[in-house]
Amino acid sequence: MPDFQKILNTIYEETKHLSDTGKVATYIPELASISGNKFGICLLDIEKKSYHIGDFEESFSVQSISKVLTLAMAMSCIGEKVWDRVDVEPSGDPFNHLSLLEQENGIPRNPLINAGAIVIADILVSELKEPKKDFLAFVRQISGDPTISYDENVAKSEKATGFKNYAAANLLKSYGNLKNDVLEVLDFYFYQCSLSMSCSQLCNTFYLFINRGKCRQQQEFLTVNQVKRINALMLTCGFYDEAGEFAFRVGLPGKSGVGGGIVALLPKNFCVAVWSPGLNKKGNSTRGMAVLERLTTLSDLSIF
Ligand code: GLU
Repeated sequence: MPDFQKILNTIYEETKHLSDTGKVATYIPELASISGNKFGICLLDIEKKSYHIGDFEESFSVQSISKVLTLAMAMSCIGEKVWDRVDVEPSGDPFNHLSLLEQENGIPRNPLINAGAIVIADILVSELKEPKKDFLAFVRQISGDPTISYDENVAKSEKATGFKNYAAANLLKSYGNLKNDVLEVLDFYFYQCSLSMSCSQLCNTFYLFINRGKCRQQQEFLTVNQVKRINALMLTCGFYDEAGEFAFRVGLPGKSGVGGGIVALLPKNFCVAVWSPGLNKKGNSTRGMAVLERLTTLSDLSIF
């Protein structure tokens, strides 16, 4: 194994002073107040050794990173039936694009864009007794961390302004690909996006995707095959219309969120989380992309 702490220290120094790190997301009003100077990195290796620097213990809004976790829970509930409701192709579109419009069948392109994640939210609303409570319990269980919570203010803020998501959900409903009440599904969706986690908590949570479906406590939540599928989707669909660029520059499966977080991983090796709220034009953390590109270069570890 390379000296990860030395590599993180080097990268942190190199990228700390980047002059243009883009803009903090403002379309969800509650996210607009976050300082663009926040910057943390955490890396957890397969031996559960943690390396970190900066604001790695500060919680932030994980937003779309939660889509990987709802997908994992939906797959653990209904298995392969998930794929009757959502496709597995990259969209090449921005996160909030109503890509199902193009297909005229109400099947979103993949579960990591908003329309697809709303279908996954619908599956969980059908399957779970108390969706918000049960999903949070699932995240706490796989991370081994009972302190993880939703940020009510972020959820309410998006509920009041997430018009494109209301449009997507209504469209899905019109195609018959939303079984529950639109507002009930969106309420769950806005809460899942409001999950508040630190880089360190994200690494603990995503450990099961490097450990063949078993969490840090070695409890099995997903099969090896399910993990293979989710990691493939992260590689091809995890970065909006920049998934190709991320594979090209970084070479790892991963998922970003408009809160400025990115989680990426090398199966059987390590997972890493970076938080820096300034986003590039495609909605991915500018500094996060730079950090991960340097990480796979300096460590010589990527899936390629
Ligand atoms: N809650 C955000 C939305 O639906 C998530 C966006 C993201 O992180 O990509 O607009």
